[in-house]
Amino acid sequence: MLFSEDRLVHRDTYYGSIEVICGSMFSGKTEELIRRVRRSQLAKLPVEIFKPAMDTRYHQTDITSHDSNRISSISVEHSSTILLLGSAAKVVGIDEAQFFDDELPDVCTKLANAGIRVIVAGLDMDFKGQPFGPVPALMAIAEHVTKVHAVCVRCGAPANYSYRLTQDDRQPLLGEKESYEPRCRTCFFGSK
Ligand code: ZN
Repeated sequence: MLFSEDRLVHRDTYYGSIEVICGSMFSGKTEELIRRVRRSQLAKLPVEIFKPAMDTRYHQTDITSHDSNRISSISVEHSSTILLLGSAAKVVGIDEAQFFDDELPDVCTKLANAGIRVIVAGLDMDFKGQPFGPVPALMAIAEHVTKVHAVCVRCGAPANYSYRLTQDDRQPLLGEKESYEPRCRTCFFGSK
């Protein structure tokens, strides 16, 4: 009996970890985040999901994937709020991580060290093919990194770039998915 209780304590202590799900637009990042969070909900674990307050497309308090799979979430202005509101959860999901501030990796580390499973989804690269916001740092400190791929609209190969169809040079262009298309390396760099 003592042995099994001991194991439980240890299991709880070492439960904390960071998982990153990243890829281009249309790669199914949010769907994968929702899939993992739903499994945690089935396991009756307390779950909280966060997204940056600037991401207001579709629905204010849900995270919504492009195929309208919805799950309730909290919009926050700064990553430090996740530390405040997420500490009581066993599983914390974070979507659109690329739009958070540079403190997000530190916040995720603190949550994971407190025994929380942290699942982060976000774009790994911007439309120029450059590492995007805090996501590269999160990939470095995570136990698990999953790169998901879209399908290149030009040739059908796995796509990991978000090609911008407009000439607008502003960075995010949130929710304007008609302004982007997924492309593979060859088709992304071939048309520059
Ligand atoms: Zn291609």
